[in-house]
Amino acid sequence: MSQNIVAIVGRPNVGKSTLFNYIANSKISIVSDEPGVTRDRIYADCNWLNFNFKLIDTGGIELNSTDSMLNHIKTQVDIAIEMANVIIFVVSVKDGLVDLDREIANFLRKTNKPIILCINKVDNFKKQENEIYEFYELGFENIFAVSASNKSGLGDMLDKMSTYFYTDFDEKIEESDLTKIAVIGKPNSGKSSLINKLLGEERVIVSNIAGTTRDAIDTEIIKDNKKYIFIDTAGLRRKSAIKDKIELYSYFRSEIAIDRCDIAIVMIDAIEGISKIDTTIAGIAHEKGKGIIIAINKWDLVEKDDKTIYKFKNEIKEAFSYMSYAEIAFISAKTGKRVNELYDKIDLIRNNQLMRIKTGTLNEILLNAISLNDTPQDKGKRLKIFYITEISVEPPTFVLFVNDKELMHFSYLRYLENKIREAFSFSGTSIKFILQEKKDENS
Ligand code: GDP
Ligand code: GDP
Repeated sequence: MSQNIVAIVGRPNVGKSTLFNYIANSKISIVSDEPGVTRDRIYADCNWLNFNFKLIDTGGIELNSTDSMLNHIKTQVDIAIEMANVIIFVVSVKDGLVDLDREIANFLRKTNKPIILCINKVDNFKKQENEIYEFYELGFENIFAVSASNKSGLGDMLDKMSTYFYTDFDEKIEESDLTKIAVIGKPNSGKSSLINKLLGEERVIVSNIAGTTRDAIDTEIIKDNKKYIFIDTAGLRRKSAIKDKIELYSYFRSEIAIDRCDIAIVMIDAIEGISKIDTTIAGIAHEKGKGIIIAINKWDLVEKDDKTIYKFKNEIKEAFSYMSYAEIAFISAKTGKRVNELYDKIDLIRNNQLMRIKTGTLNEILLNAISLNDTPQDKGKRLKIFYITEISVEPPTFVLFVNDKELMHFSYLRYLENKIREAFSFSGTSIKFILQEKKDENS
């Protein structure tokens, strides 16, 4: 269940982003061009001592320009407190302890989450040792003198951080006949209405499982002897002061939910139409190889004629062109219309995600595909595909053994994907290809 999330807070220029870059070690998961994000890197999937965690640089979150620096930082600290299970509070030995540091410390003291005070820019410990003691006044227990730019002192600090991490990896050993579904989408698209409707329709609600790293709530539903867990995204039932305040926040929470799910339901407000945020969030689910249902919600409010569905489907096709495999549903979370069909789609996608195709069958499809449309060639050398086999599921992943990877074209891979989908559909799930070079034994 547990997700480890670490947030870096501190006033500007103390070295948060330098520290972030060091820890993230260029393993940046998201480059965001959303408004409200000043830096191109805000959060990253990181690893320390075999612990995986998400790191957020709250300094990259830009708020209203009318906000005072203090308010600005207060919101960043709020986000850190709400989302993270460990907070790294950065100060700079070069500036010494300033009022704004004290203010941040006051905000942080209100939480009982572990705080690590990181005194940065201690480039020369011997020379600067005396300057670090004034920070002890802040009263934090975990204090580390580091130099983010010299990369010194950081190992000890990260070791300490990891002692606060969750170590129960029960999610990995959960039953396999369980499907985890994240309902994601913009604020007001109808996510909570959908979950409430699903709950209302099914009398067999088992439990609310309290989230571990945050106060999010997972909802378990048993239907027809099958277990579904709906993962609550942006603090659905809890009106947080910062909810909706910045897009990045809901966006980040979506990603956390997506990480934990098998299938994502992307809720789109039919009246508002498809927006950039919708495609970005869906794109995350796609990149992570999750199953996808695009749910056009508030369908009850749409004035319909015989072309309306067709028009919507075309819009979806265009906006989500990179995931033409997605299942599409037109629902009303409010009236409940077609909401139950989501279960059929979820079951179908789950089957597809776990489907294994025999190597013999795959190679028949491959040979047939090649005979209809020969492999690409370059400078007289033709791509040879010796054989294909499915090596893993979730999402189904195929290895193609080839003579030369460079000869493969994206469009040809697309063609092969289409041929496999013609035979097995795999609807709702992405499928992946890995190219593996192999010596041509006949040459
Ligand atoms: P942020 O605004 O808190 O994210 O701070 P930055 O990471 O952008 O760093 C602000 C400035 O401090 C930059 O010029 C960095 O190169 C510098 N800086 C960061 N870490 C160190 C450090 O450990 N030692 C020194 N001397 N400078 C640093
Ligand atoms: P969330 O922020 O994504 O969780 O959205 P909510 O579930 O809170 O819904 C936002 C608003 O849209 C509420 O006023 C809902 O009553 C309304 N709403 C949600 N789904 C539907 C729907 O299918 N039809 C109509 N007419 N209104 C809906």
